[in-house]
Amino acid sequence: MSQVLKVDQVMKAYNGTVALDRVSMSVEAGSCFGLLGPNGAGKSTMMKLLTGILRHDAGSIEVLGMDVGKQAGEIRATVGYVPQDITLYEKLSARQNLKFFGEMYGVRGAELKRRISEALERVGLSERADDRVASYSGGMKRRINIAAALLHEPKLVILDEPTVGIDPQSRNHIFELLRSLQQEGVTLIYSTHYMEEVEALCDAVAIIDHGRIITQGPLEELLETHALKAVYVETDAWTEVPTLTGLQRATRDGRGWVLECERPLELMSRVADELSRNSAAVMALEMMKPSLDSVFLKLTGEKLRD
Ligand code: ADP
Repeated sequence: MSQVLKVDQVMKAYNGTVALDRVSMSVEAGSCFGLLGPNGAGKSTMMKLLTGILRHDAGSIEVLGMDVGKQAGEIRATVGYVPQDITLYEKLSARQNLKFFGEMYGVRGAELKRRISEALERVGLSERADDRVASYSGGMKRRINIAAALLHEPKLVILDEPTVGIDPQSRNHIFELLRSLQQEGVTLIYSTHYMEEVEALCDAVAIIDHGRIITQGPLEELLETHALKAVYVETDAWTEVPTLTGLQRATRDGRGWVLECERPLELMSRVADELSRNSAAVMALEMMKPSLDSVFLKLTGEKLRD
């Protein structure tokens, strides 16, 4: 598979404050790549560097085989970029906004009309297309903001935290749209501080914190290598966890216990044996799903901050 993005040892500082520190990452064609990190980690800065809106201080960035330092104009014309801030004209309707953005990308006439209708359909706003954007909810504006970045039919779409502060319905529309784009072979680079979004959408991920990439790779691989493996049990029978073969660490979590181990299924069956032998009341007994939250915790020693 070919790479659509190659970032090598990139540095960026704002008046001496380092925002990105020797960041390297790569994205394969056709993947949905999540850049995950807490607020202030450097995600927006990275997204702006990728589209040439900001200049990096050192290192190199190649997008679709083009050097951002030399071909920023061409990159912006080829790539779909959805900025974090809404960039729509409030007094115009959604359709008029899309016409403006489409023409900016050089699409015109009947073809533009067709693409606008299609984009409106895809973000679920055909029926509101002729209303002024000022009358839209935050989530609807975001959906139009995304539609605006698709009118030139880009093969690579970069989205900077597109679901911050929106309603669940808009979020679902955005997710459906992104899934269908991916099925059409479009590569997506998606920044977010919501790990569940990366788990639901992305097949590859880079975790960024304090301007540094702390790990990256296929999602499944990161979960397999770093995520906590554990069994969760809630029972009145234990004031202390008994000795169980394979149990590495037991910690209290609310009403229950998190039992860390290498082989959760085996441990779960030992826990079930132990508790049924004592006819204990059991409120919950389950394997904990490997999560990016625990990957982050393991690698940084902190919870993913909101
Ligand atoms: P994120 O998108 O992950 O929230 P940002 O890229 O916006 O992170 O910010 C990374 C760091 O750079 C933060 O410490 C932030 O305060 C700082 N920063 C971002 N933009 C500017 C700016 N225009 N001037 C000065 N500092 C900035």
